Amino acid sequence: MLPSPNSDTKPTMEQIQLEPYIYAPTIDSDGDYIDYYPQNHFIKCQCNGETHLYGKEGFRNHTTTVKHRGWLMHINNNRHNLFRENIRLNELVENQKSIIAKMDIEIQNAKIRENLLKDMMKEMQSPKSPKKSPKID
Ligand SMILES: [Zn+2]
Repeated sequence: MLPSPNSDTKPTMEQIQLEPYIYAPTIDSDGDYIDYYPQNHFIKCQCNGETHLYGKEGFRNHTTTVKHRGWLMHINNNRHNLFRENIRLNELVENQKSIIAKMDIEIQNAKIRENLLKDMMKEMQSPKSPKKSPKID
């Protein structure tokens, strides 16, 4: 049984969330993507990338639009491409994680060098210490 919206025509404050519900169709027993109707009223649909606050029938009506029907047909006709794209995106995420980790290490090393240089400058400016040039390895 598919979830249905509340009987109220307008969403309650509890139903309004700051983050929209990212809508993605579900899959039926034949493996086809089909629409369902989430409880959430603040929905971002991938057919147009837009976020809307829908009333009771609003999202149901949205799923009957030409754009939404065309999008659903497109993803049903391109299942294999979507699977391949998912693999490619997962690989991209892993590469991005690796790049971010390397950059984080570089930032940490730069902070350590900065602090060392600051300490050396303080020591050089201190009246107690003899004037000497910093030794950098
Ligand atoms: Zn849509």
